[in-house]
Amino acid sequence: MAGVATQASLESAPRIMRLVAECSRSRARAGELRLPHGTVATPVFMPVGTQATMKGITTEQLDALGCRICLGNTYHLGLRPGPELIQKANGLHGFMNWPHNLLTDSGGFQMVSLVSLSEVTEEGVRFRSPYDGSETLLSPEKSVQIQNALGLFIFIYYFKTESHSVTQARVQWHNLSWDYRCPPPHPVETEFYHVGQGGLELLISIYPVPSEMTKRDVPGFAIGGLSGGESKSQFWRMVALSTSQLPKDKPRYLMGVGYATDLVVCVALGCDMFDCVFPTRTARFGSALVPTGNLQLRRKVFEKDFGPINPECTCPTCQKHSRAFLHALLHSDNTAALHHLTVHNIAYQLQLMSAVRTSIVEKRFPDFVRDFMGTMYGDPTLCPTWATDALASVGITLG
Ligand SMILES: [Zn+2]
Repeated sequence: MAGVATQASLESAPRIMRLVAECSRSRARAGELRLPHGTVATPVFMPVGTQATMKGITTEQLDALGCRICLGNTYHLGLRPGPELIQKANGLHGFMNWPHNLLTDSGGFQMVSLVSLSEVTEEGVRFRSPYDGSETLLSPEKSVQIQNALGLFIFIYYFKTESHSVTQARVQWHNLSWDYRCPPPHPVETEFYHVGQGGLELLISIYPVPSEMTKRDVPGFAIGGLSGGESKSQFWRMVALSTSQLPKDKPRYLMGVGYATDLVVCVALGCDMFDCVFPTRTARFGSALVPTGNLQLRRKVFEKDFGPINPECTCPTCQKHSRAFLHALLHSDNTAALHHLTVHNIAYQLQLMSAVRTSIVEKRFPDFVRDFMGTMYGDPTLCPTWATDALASVGITLG
């Protein structure tokens, strides 16, 4: 990305985070993000939309579930339906009819997920459209341009186009920048580190987070580039390193993380915002998220099970439909099943984060974590080693 933000632009970064409560043992925090489209309670899970739609759920349903921020996707939106069309519809909020907050990334993750389609050059990332094979260049400038056209409120400055391979361990420091209403957007330096042999462990020992990054007066920080094939042990150490060096009064957005265990652990490590396609994707495979893991509702065992997916869940699916009914829908290839499961799975994520938050506010987060792991794994001591180690590193013991 060209240039470094000017002093004037840095001073204009708004304070968006208010800390409401902090765990006295771990790094977990409860907060509020004050955003132009309403306040968002943190920690928060943000469902992911592509092409201005959420798969399997309407924006009205998302709203009714209490979702107050979700993700758009610049790369996909830039191709189809295209920024001009969306601009005509009063931006992405108008196009989607979504009154709450939206967050987009700049295409960085797509560079990884669609790497077979992309070529990284000094100009940017050249993609071949998965729809029609046409080539698109996503430059840093183009990424910002698309996001401006979409009328979004938070966006992430991503990228520096040094060539790198997805097989290399890498760490990206993204800066969340702010507000389409102040064009031209502030250029913010982004940093990538590359290591070949030795992976993240080596990286952690060599490179502390540079202080010029953490001191920069941006509204928040995103930790990106993880969830890309590193081990869980490397993953949590990188997250812990990041949060140990980031300023306390700004939100920390851990990108691409959405498994329930990972969410709970990473809240303990001090992260505030998360996104992942997992809950909606797994719904499309007939999998319902529950406190003990998941239910594969296609299985015969659910054929005559007239209970809800989760008796504790307040979502419309659990209020109105049985496991047996959903099982029957799945077996008749009725797409309504996927819809009902998507609603439930997003509700599960939102309810989980809400319960996490309440426990932080009520000063019982460590107990919450032990109960959560006990339910998920049958016994807290059966929690995966990486999670046990991560939690122990911030003073939460499961034994
Ligand atoms: Zn439910």
